Amino acid sequence: MTDCLFCKIVSKNIPATVVHETDRTVAFRDLDPQAPTHVLVIPKGHYENAAALAEADDGLADEVLKAAHAVAVREGVAGDGYRIVFNTGPKAGQTVFHVHAHVLGGRPMTWPPG
Ligand code: 5GP
Ligand code: ZN
Repeated sequence: MTDCLFCKIVSKNIPATVVHETDRTVAFRDLDPQAPTHVLVIPKGHYENAAALAEADDGLADEVLKAAHAVAVREGVAGDGYRIVFNTGPKAGQTVFHVHAHVLGGRPMTWPPG
């Protein structure tokens, strides 16, 4: 998608600090981190949100989840606990409409989120 921010990160038209990459996923640091570890994991292909990704039904959602876990391990937060969040839709706070898993860790977290 030509005017999607995260598609531009995939095509390297916008720089990002990439921490993990597979054939169909890429993970990079959030520009405005909300925790010591705050990484976004995305499929390289464009899906608007987690609902669209789930409907793709080709194993890609599984790959994104596995990549998120790999990031948590690599960042050293898997042992203490971390959070994987898909904001899905405007009411949930989604602002970039290319599906992304937030991987957050490295500090205590409360529940429920605001
Ligand atoms: P959402 O609100 O859609 O769940 O999350 C979008 C996330 O993308 C936010 O945490 C925001 O800080 C991050 N973000 C927005 N623009 C950029 C960018 O150009 N580069 C990176 N690395 N992160 C971005
Ligand atoms: Zn996109």
